[in-house]
Amino acid sequence: MQAAADTAAVAPAPAPRRATRTSRVKMMRQYDLVDRVRAYNPDTDEDLLNRAYVYAMMAHGEQKRASGDPYFSHPLEVAAILTDLKLDDATIVAALLHDTIEDTESTRAEIDQLFGPEIGALVEGLTKLKRLELVSREAKQAENLRKLLLAISDDVRVLLVKLADRLHNMRTMEFMPPASRRRIAEETLDIYAPLAGRMGMQEMREELEDLSFRILDPEAHAVVTQRLDALAERNRNLIGEIEAQLVASLKKNGISAIVKGRRKQPFSIWVKMERKSVGFEQLSDIFGFRVILNSVAECYRALGIVHTNWPVVPGRFKDYISTPKQNDYRSIHTTVIGPGNQRVELQIRTEEMDRVNEYGIAAHAFYKDGVGSPTERLKRESNAFAWLRHTVEVLSESANPEEFLEHTKMELFHDQVFCFTPKGKLIALPRYANVIDFAYAVHTDVGNSAVGCKINGKFAPLSTELQNGDEVVVLTSKAQSAPPSAWESLAVTGKAKAAIRRATRAAVRDQYAGLGRRIVERLFMRAKIAYADDKLKGALPRLARASIEDVMAAVGRGEMKASDVARAMYPDYKEEARQNVIKGAAAKAKTVEASPKSPAIPIRGINSDLPVKFAPNGGAVPGDRIVGIVTKGEGITIYPIQSLALKDFEEEPERWIDVRWDIDEAAPRRFPARLAVQNVNEPGSLAQVAGVIAEHDGNIDNIHMSRRSPDFTDLTIDLEVYDLKHLNGIISQLRAKAVVASVERVNG
Ligand code: MN
Repeated sequence: MQAAADTAAVAPAPAPRRATRTSRVKMMRQYDLVDRVRAYNPDTDEDLLNRAYVYAMMAHGEQKRASGDPYFSHPLEVAAILTDLKLDDATIVAALLHDTIEDTESTRAEIDQLFGPEIGALVEGLTKLKRLELVSREAKQAENLRKLLLAISDDVRVLLVKLADRLHNMRTMEFMPPASRRRIAEETLDIYAPLAGRMGMQEMREELEDLSFRILDPEAHAVVTQRLDALAERNRNLIGEIEAQLVASLKKNGISAIVKGRRKQPFSIWVKMERKSVGFEQLSDIFGFRVILNSVAECYRALGIVHTNWPVVPGRFKDYISTPKQNDYRSIHTTVIGPGNQRVELQIRTEEMDRVNEYGIAAHAFYKDGVGSPTERLKRESNAFAWLRHTVEVLSESANPEEFLEHTKMELFHDQVFCFTPKGKLIALPRYANVIDFAYAVHTDVGNSAVGCKINGKFAPLSTELQNGDEVVVLTSKAQSAPPSAWESLAVTGKAKAAIRRATRAAVRDQYAGLGRRIVERLFMRAKIAYADDKLKGALPRLARASIEDVMAAVGRGEMKASDVARAMYPDYKEEARQNVIKGAAAKAKTVEASPKSPAIPIRGINSDLPVKFAPNGGAVPGDRIVGIVTKGEGITIYPIQSLALKDFEEEPERWIDVRWDIDEAAPRRFPARLAVQNVNEPGSLAQVAGVIAEHDGNIDNIHMSRRSPDFTDLTIDLEVYDLKHLNGIISQLRAKAVVASVERVNG
């Protein structure tokens, strides 16, 4: 066998490459493989392994790899990789046979007959995946990934063999044409490496990443590696010293620990450098230390000892023992200032955790520990596997394969969160995204009208950071046509930020334009001139505005007078004198009869010369239904119809008079209103409330505060607004604030 390989080595075309790089390993012998398995699994079925070895070797016969090696060296190496993960006989045999159905005369029936249906099913699963690869490329990639996930959720050992297969192919890529090398490396970095990580197989992920990185960006890989080497060399003594000091101080406290300094990977350093544009200089940038202990209790004791001996770097402590990561990773992380004034990163864990952290689902499938089939054990033991099943379940119904690919790719990376609508639609968001981002990801309209949410069935603030797997119901209100502008700073995604900016800008402008239009139309009606957009269009140059909307918004904002608009359209227009805002009956009675269109309604039986004022507690704003109460010698007091004070006059119907708003829209003015706001006690909450009111153009006259409980403050806010719509707008913006528990209008 060895001789054949050596002969082949000189023969094939890409000989120059082979002279410079020798990734090719010495081919393993039959008894080597059996020995490796027996080392971790004394009960191994040696006969089964031997038969599979011989069968695969015969089946592949004279086939050669691109390197010129006998093809059989490939399945043999794949099997060897899986012995490092200490996998069961069926997986090792499936690895030996994984290319037989596709590439040789073998059939599923034959394999079933010779090796049993369990192994037959594994080999068939791998054959399907291989066929997927052959038809691959862009258009099919999404569909392939879906099938890949489906295949591995049937039996996760298919993934383990597939990953080992890809790893060996990546290790021996130098013989492939450069274009396919790149494509395969990209796919590895996109799908297989993250998938390995997602399944908790860190060693596998790291090697796949490193091999891909080397192919995709050889210069960056070389630079980072050289720098790593130099820093490691410079710190060589320090690393030994830190290990020794850690072991010694733990031993003094009766804990025996294994401490292993571990170099970080070029790829992860490169990603950090690219994302955060930072360099690496400190030991902690390139080295981490693992402290391996015998029990969970010892982990926490060791943590205490470390924190007592060295100053802790704040913000770096994480306890993944009490809260494991979703890929089953468990460890305590902390960073201290250690010997030589160096930051030292520590990962404190038990041996069992260390094994799972390196091998992930493969550790759960570990042959001799478990009861039941590997898949059964995984269902019981592995969060990562549960995630896989869940993902496949939800996504296998996804209609659009491209979308599926995008989401799944995103989810494979750890800086993404993956949430669901109540109907099971997948929403992928960057890490730290909140419900506002979620709402905008669902639909811009949902974002714009979001007023509340439920996460996994519980009410939560819209600013809540989302976690993987959260099911989110966004509660919307038609009353909210635009989001509070403050959301822009809360949102994480660019999409949400842009939509919020657009919506608030548009809403503010719409409001002003709407107000302006009312003012202009009102003025025209009074002056008994016909208003028409076309006519105004012709006058735009005179007003130096680009559009009718611009004119109306300018009038609404008070930058332009309605009379200027009228004059621009009708040069001989003359302004009429204006009267009081709330009109007495007599003054308007005739107008009403003459012009039924007039909104003014007379106040019956009262002389228009009477003074008019607003009720003292809470006021009234245009849009409110109002009544006047006559007080002899004082005039008329205006109450909104909902005012509680009106009860006092129930016995005196003769004092009630009907009044109606008669606003001069050419001169917008403000009216008093009062709000009762219940505020959550937290720093800046009052400022947030005041901010919302100011942002939405309300004037605050007065704020009265009283603390009702440690958690809430009651605020009574007197403010001035243009009309009821304006007031209601402010109320709903306040209600949308997380710090606001309730808002009610008050009419005393
Ligand atoms: Mn293969």
